[in-house]
Amino acid sequence: MKIKRLPKELRIPKKNCTRCGLSTTRTNVCHGTGPGLKGGLVFVGEGPGHEEDISGLTFCGRAGVHINGVLKMFKIPRNHVNFLNILKCRPLGNRDPRISEVEECILFLNRQIEIIEPKLVVALGRVACAYLTGFTDSVIRCHGNLYPWLHNTNVDVMYTFHPAFVIRPNGHKYKNSFIKDIGNALRFAGLR
Ligand code: URA
Repeated sequence: MKIKRLPKELRIPKKNCTRCGLSTTRTNVCHGTGPGLKGGLVFVGEGPGHEEDISGLTFCGRAGVHINGVLKMFKIPRNHVNFLNILKCRPLGNRDPRISEVEECILFLNRQIEIIEPKLVVALGRVACAYLTGFTDSVIRCHGNLYPWLHNTNVDVMYTFHPAFVIRPNGHKYKNSFIKDIGNALRFAGLR
């Protein structure tokens, strides 16, 4: 399956962006993947990992394969939804994004979400939810809840697990909760 890049107008920032130090270690800027159509569903992760940095495609590694499988359970092809990240470039060693990096980068995600006008944004993990909503409580306690997007409170953000967490041994017991949240998000977005 060929993963679809976002349409041109959503490919921000430019490939030669140097707004933060990640520009010195990245291979590719990962703008995001998906149809980018108005009213679609947007998933937001933390930042590109190794595979994403090499390919330039968001969620093309192990975490992406897992969430693609969950979407398939609901008969939704991966290319029908959008996968964006808080950071467009990979933090080496997959460390958490630094606040200074997020401050330089979040305007691009905000613009992408404004253009798409999604029915729902799904925050994959604590880091994505924190920067989208300001809400930092435990995903184990609060997954499935909706919070307003900081940038435009008319847009809802659903908090759920990061797919990389539910495939780790300590996250296995949340696999079914993750599936349930994704099913609810798809229903909320009118995709099932
Ligand atoms: N994890 C993320 O948060 N984003 C990706 O694109 C890949 C893995």
